[in-house]
Amino acid sequence: MDGPGGRAAGGTGRTVGADGTPRDARHGGGGGGGGGGEAAAVRAVARRLGLPGLLDVHTHFMPDRVLRKVWAYFDGVEDLTGVAWPITYREEEDRRVDLLRRFGVLRFTSMVYPHKAGMARWLNDWAAGFATRVPECLCTGTLYPEDGVGRYVTEHLARGARVFKVHLQVGDFDPNDPLLDPAWGALADARVPVVVHCGSGPTPGAHTGPGPVGRLLARYPRLRLVVAHMGMPEYADFLDLAERYDEVRLDTTMVFTDFSERLAPFPRQEHGRLLALGDRVLLGSDFPNIPYGYLHQLEALERLGLGDDWLRGVLHGNAAALFADAGTGADPGTGADPGTGAAGTGTAGTGMDSQGIHRNA
Ligand SMILES: [Zn+2]
Repeated sequence: MDGPGGRAAGGTGRTVGADGTPRDARHGGGGGGGGGGEAAAVRAVARRLGLPGLLDVHTHFMPDRVLRKVWAYFDGVEDLTGVAWPITYREEEDRRVDLLRRFGVLRFTSMVYPHKAGMARWLNDWAAGFATRVPECLCTGTLYPEDGVGRYVTEHLARGARVFKVHLQVGDFDPNDPLLDPAWGALADARVPVVVHCGSGPTPGAHTGPGPVGRLLARYPRLRLVVAHMGMPEYADFLDLAERYDEVRLDTTMVFTDFSERLAPFPRQEHGRLLALGDRVLLGSDFPNIPYGYLHQLEALERLGLGDDWLRGVLHGNAAALFADAGTGADPGTGADPGTGAAGTGTAGTGMDSQGIHRNA
């Protein structure tokens, strides 16, 4: 779940959560905090499945002052929701990158999102720089309904953006705003996935829920829309959309964890559809802004009991196929040589994807 960026409330300064635990308590399996034991346990999950590592489509890296506002929001969120949200990985940026490397996360993202006009282009510039510094990070973009959005999205795609993030609750805009049509068109043509926070969790927004995004997909049925948090709490409605549109995917971010099961449990009767749509479910974690350890997300997926083939797809195979197919055609999943073309360093210049379709046309 994402904090509302720059509009964040300040932290309360209190050090004890509602249940009496210290705010910096490290929850979840493995203890959190990134100790050597935790890293080994995370790596063991991939190793047991015969995977080279993990692909995590939903992680947050952002300009430092923006991230600190997000963290301040989570520090104060208990006053809004009654549930404490102790950030497990409140670390400096280089330490957070090092943690993902030690977890064996081969590719990840830097999900950025604006809450007002005039911010998205700056965030995209930052994300391009970050992906150059950190080659395992897929160059990430974002957008906002404003003049010039079609142009800056097209430019960001041309310099190698591999994934976008849109936050309809924090941004508080209708995805069908006509200003956005050139941007959606460019993303659909480029076949670059866009992770959209469109569910009504943790609190509904004017444009969240399956309606607005459903209308968007009716207009752009080939848009590679990834439903963040599997659409929590409207899971069934977003599974409907995934059944209707072949290019819709869902990320697992925070879903099935003890934390989310208390607030918005995933319905057991939907496990069949989860299995049937298994090739369109992607690992997402919300690292570092999670109130439990990274391992717990993996345990939460394993304990669904949907089988090792399902897990292999979710933890690695589905994202490897998605990102190999979009953009430069470089395989983001081998882990053999991070940095060769997957990081948005201008390698998108060929303009062709694996289908031979001209990108950014
Ligand atoms: Zn997030």
